[in-house]
Amino acid sequence: MSSSVIDFLATEARLGTKNYEPIGVVLSRGEGVWVWDTDGNRYLDCLSAYSAVSQGHCHPKILAAMVEQAHRLTLTSRAFHNDQLAPFYEEIAALTGSHKVLPMNSGAEAVESAIKSVRKWGYEVKGVPDGQAEIIVCANNFHGRTLGIVGFSTDPETRTHFGPFAPGFKIIPFGDVAALEEAIAPNTVAFLVEPIQGEAGVIIPPSGYFPKVRELCTANNVMLVLDEIQTGLGRTGKLLAEQHEGIEADVTLLGKALSGGFYPVSAVLSNNEVLGTLRPGQHGSTFGGNPLACAVARAAMRVLVEEGMIENAARQGARFLEGLKDIRANTIREVRGRGLMLAVELHPEAGRARRYCEALQGKGILAKDTHEHTIRIAPPLVITSDQVDWALEQFATTLTQDLS
Ligand SMILES: *Cc1c(COP(=O)(O)O)cnc(C)c1O
Repeated sequence: MSSSVIDFLATEARLGTKNYEPIGVVLSRGEGVWVWDTDGNRYLDCLSAYSAVSQGHCHPKILAAMVEQAHRLTLTSRAFHNDQLAPFYEEIAALTGSHKVLPMNSGAEAVESAIKSVRKWGYEVKGVPDGQAEIIVCANNFHGRTLGIVGFSTDPETRTHFGPFAPGFKIIPFGDVAALEEAIAPNTVAFLVEPIQGEAGVIIPPSGYFPKVRELCTANNVMLVLDEIQTGLGRTGKLLAEQHEGIEADVTLLGKALSGGFYPVSAVLSNNEVLGTLRPGQHGSTFGGNPLACAVARAAMRVLVEEGMIENAARQGARFLEGLKDIRANTIREVRGRGLMLAVELHPEAGRARRYCEALQGKGILAKDTHEHTIRIAPPLVITSDQVDWALEQFATTLTQDLS
């Protein structure tokens, strides 16, 4: 480690709140699938900032759109119109087949906004008695870090000593249709769920689960809210993960890759009247829908489609998954994934996944552990076959070591 790296780490340790435990690499530059540290070492980014950098680091067209817009107009607040919001609405609605759009900033804000909207819809349209609305969520969910959201997390790390929490949430197991059927009550307004549980370790539900969920929600007039903040925008090899299931959500949440990693941009999308219940003054955000965000998001969506990134995610994801399955290593318990949202779960005896991520760093790969024994793999969607093959060689040599 060079002295400059030690300085960065020491200063962070001294002055920063220790709410993260980063791998010991200090990055200073990125391009496409690659990032460089302060010593000039190059790494293949297999995290993509939790799928926010799906279009690749510093995509030139998104960069150009951002710089161009930053020269013209960055923020007006929603007290006035701006000339980027309407085109953003047109383009995101056309891309996703949505009828209404609510622009926000972080993913957690999109989730909070959806919760507020479905509750309001419940009271004003469904006829739920005021204050009685219930939302069903899944165990091991990850929807963000606000107080409202961590209150219905089942991860003790996430919630301990942050309460008291808001009531109105019922938790059921993920992938369990019978549990959903049993949990739905007259005051249920929504079922909020990830199509694939990302932070939980890339947990793919049993096939047939979501079509049944869709049926149950429709039959009971319950809004199906899909949190596609991580799975959306091509990550799983389709524009939206719901397309693998052949269903349509009532409310879809996007974030992360909506800006290609340049800026926090999120959105609540609805194909019915849920968002129509919000009236002037009832919800908002100073930065939500600002012209800079809209210009960046428009470019981020455009390159995703124009450059064939979604198809590439399907193709390279299949290649990556096959390659991981071909690795013969006693450390591996299971390999799973859809598109370029992949995970290797290690046997508990193999030791912490963190150790393997650190070993991968030494081989030029940045990946992130999740939940002790799982390595999550999510490179930018612009990865090539040669890069996948090279990454697989690094995974094979790392995973055949015993680092317990
Ligand atoms: C990352 C994530 C969020 C939260 O997004 P932030 O921008 O970090 O607030 C919500 N839901 C899912 C599924 C996510 O992966």
